[in-house]
Amino acid sequence: MQQFQQYIGGVFSDGSARFESHDPAIGTAWAMMPEARTVDVEAAVAAARAAFQSPDWADMTATARGKLLYRLADLISENAETLAQLETRDTGKIIRETSAQIAYVAEYYRYYAGLADKIEGAHLPIDKPDMEVWLRREPLGVVAAVVPWNSQLFLAAVKIGPALAAGCTVVLKASEDGPAPMLEFARIFDQVGFPPGVLNIITGFGADCGAVLTAHSGIDHVAFTGGPETARHVVRNSAENLASTSLELGGKSPFIVFEDADIDSAVNAQVSGIFAATGQSCVAGSRLIVSNQIKDVFLQRLKEKAESAQIGVPDKRTTEIGPLCTKAQLNRAVDLVAASVAAGAQIVTGGAPLDREGNFFPPTILDCSKAPDAPCLSEEFFGPVLSVRGFDTEAEALAIANDTAHGLASGVFTRDLTRAHRMIRGIRAGIVWVNTYRAVSPIAPFGGHGLSGHGREGGLEAALDYTKVKTVWLRTSDDPIPEPFVMR
Ligand code: NAD
Repeated sequence: MQQFQQYIGGVFSDGSARFESHDPAIGTAWAMMPEARTVDVEAAVAAARAAFQSPDWADMTATARGKLLYRLADLISENAETLAQLETRDTGKIIRETSAQIAYVAEYYRYYAGLADKIEGAHLPIDKPDMEVWLRREPLGVVAAVVPWNSQLFLAAVKIGPALAAGCTVVLKASEDGPAPMLEFARIFDQVGFPPGVLNIITGFGADCGAVLTAHSGIDHVAFTGGPETARHVVRNSAENLASTSLELGGKSPFIVFEDADIDSAVNAQVSGIFAATGQSCVAGSRLIVSNQIKDVFLQRLKEKAESAQIGVPDKRTTEIGPLCTKAQLNRAVDLVAASVAAGAQIVTGGAPLDREGNFFPPTILDCSKAPDAPCLSEEFFGPVLSVRGFDTEAEALAIANDTAHGLASGVFTRDLTRAHRMIRGIRAGIVWVNTYRAVSPIAPFGGHGLSGHGREGGLEAALDYTKVKTVWLRTSDDPIPEPFVMR
């Protein structure tokens, strides 16, 4: 079996314990992973703190930090194939997706490399003639980054990139499910030339590793991506230390199609929105809200696409739908479909696991027009299950779209410009895609409201979130300070 190691203070080690990682396409163990427990977490936080305070990092100019990030991006590009293959092997994410995503990962690091020396403070035109007042933007400190199993390299990049650009140091906890690509990333990072301890990468389980890390008194900020229930634990953990948090959680994103939409584009975007990445995407457009005028035609077209999608092993270039990451997730799919059908949902296609080894569940469409309380309409499910509702009026479409505690992404398909603007204003979500879906860029902030979390990743805003503002007052007069008992 292949062996992987954790990375603390610039040194690779086996971790306090070891655990097996399973190949989701065949269900058997293929690699041994390091399992970080309290002692490893302590070492990682200590290494990150020491690096944060060391002159090698603290006194490094922002431009020099940026150059290191450029070098990291180049090494990622050079090792793209290995990283993509490892992510596919360990998580079951199809190779087409992991290969495309790794190119983005390098671009995110390049964006933050360029941004490092553009994180500026400000000079304030203060209303006192003998004072100069300015704001310094200083690094926030030691960051705990916790990521879920899906798109780990990407979700790590949107934390590590801005954090290092801003001058922070990081302890990243990779997911216990599919950590191989992150541990390989550590080997690439090690070649760049960052001072030891600037980035530490460990993996382990929620209670013994994630909870210990996020509750640690040496942590200044927790950047978390995962489910809302885990996020509640993370916030409670970090409360002891009053660390700040940014939370990127799941969604139940509406995908709204009006009768005047370009149907071909809308069908393809809906397929991409819910069946790409085997539906294991936080921005999955898992609630189709379609005009009753075109509902039957639209569903027929969608059904044909769903049934012709190539299901298979994830490392084959022609595969379009791979396995779910874990057996537990496969079981959840079965339970969700059963509960939704019991509530009145009708299966348009799919609905049962495939009769083959591995965690395969087919593209599934559930028509919930007569089942407004079906759980598939409200519960985030990380898989290829689409729920459908019809609507008659624009107001009804908006009401259904906003009938959720989540608020991450949304899609609107219409050719009517004024209606598009009304929907953009009305939808409660962090992202609105109009006549497109699942588009990302390092330049564009990403994040949600409500149960989808708070804080933004990507863009300048994310880098600023890894800084704290220091207000500096400098008196320019040599005259003695007058009256000492009044505030100036
Ligand atoms: P999860 O919440 O189960 O786990 C996420 C991470 O938290 C893992 O590394 C896990 O080990 C760790 N963890 C578990 N318990 C912990 C605790 N008590 N304290 C600290 N850390 C703990 O999520 P998952 O099942 O791996 O991933 C799926 C979820 O992630 C979905 O809800 C999905 O929508 C969400 N997600 C969101 C985004 C986004 O950017 N908004 C992106 C990808 C995934």
